[in-house]
Amino acid sequence: MQSASSEEHAQSTSATAQFRTVLDCMAEAVYCVDQNRVINFWNASAAEITGYREEEVLGRSCRDDVLVHCDQTGKVLCHDGCPLTATLLDGRKRELEAFLKHKEGHRVAVRIRSAPLSDADGRITGVVESFSQNGDKLAAVELADLYRKLALTDTLTGIGNRREAQVHLEESVRRHMDLQVPICISLLDIDRFKQVNDSYGHDAGDKVLKVVSATLRNALRASDFLGRWGGEEFLMILEGCRLDDASAIAEQCRALVEQSRTRLDSGELGVTISVGLTEIRSGDTSGAALRRADQLLYASKCAGRNRVSREASDSRRCGAT
Ligand code: GH3
Ligand code: MG
Ligand code: MG
Repeated sequence: MQSASSEEHAQSTSATAQFRTVLDCMAEAVYCVDQNRVINFWNASAAEITGYREEEVLGRSCRDDVLVHCDQTGKVLCHDGCPLTATLLDGRKRELEAFLKHKEGHRVAVRIRSAPLSDADGRITGVVESFSQNGDKLAAVELADLYRKLALTDTLTGIGNRREAQVHLEESVRRHMDLQVPICISLLDIDRFKQVNDSYGHDAGDKVLKVVSATLRNALRASDFLGRWGGEEFLMILEGCRLDDASAIAEQCRALVEQSRTRLDSGELGVTISVGLTEIRSGDTSGAALRRADQLLYASKCAGRNRVSREASDSRRCGAT
């Protein structure tokens, strides 16, 4: 049987563990310092927002090149204006906006609150500071992200545009060269699309483009890239895939597009795609890989459309340029 004091100890240990879990669950960063401003508590969000893990900051003074709050003029608050020091001295809660130093060196806009911690006799024993990323400042960053995204997104279909596809392709070729990751690329082109426009109008053609891109996107893993290469042509990049697996995926894309329908006022419209598929080789350039994919796509067109052609044998048969 446990003695009364060991039972109390066990209860307080489990209460501490529960508090720890609760504080680690919060989106708000929380940390505590003692009277000497030495950090003795650091929750998971503090680690996430600042980049410092708990074991890197516990036992260190907060002015010891950790966080180093500054205001928007760049004035460092550690020696004059530190909210922790002020709260330690007068026991009053504070709120302010500041910029803390991330472990990587950049500044992070935060909204800070500090409050005193006291012992049973009311003596101040430390300070708790909570902070979260400052929404207004964050909004500017998010806006910049949004503009970046818009610049890389095809407005009609919502998938990556040619610029993004080019960037992605260059990165994939580099990753293949550096890490030997198997990567396949594929060009996919809607068959006889001009006839769709000519027969049903440009708006119907646009609807078809949306249906085809959504079907292709849904056929792929999140890690695969799909972009609109131009007009009715798409670029697909399959990372970590050898040619046999990529062929199966490309064939599935082809079959799913064949089974899709675009709803028009005049009824439902089906289209097919032709596909050229190649694997990035050692010493390849993005241009060379694209040329192969394009020749293979042309081979699919020559062979009657609505099919996948992979690597050289198909294109030689067709005599593609
Ligand atoms: P193939 O089977 O050989 O690929 O024939 P195709 O008719 O699909 O190819 P072609 O290159 O002759 O025609 C492509 C058409 O795609 C011509 C162009 O007007 C149309 N197109 C390109 N971009 C868009 C777009 O954003 N919206 C619509 N509706 N049509 C587009
Ligand atoms: Mg076409
Ligand atoms: Mg085309």
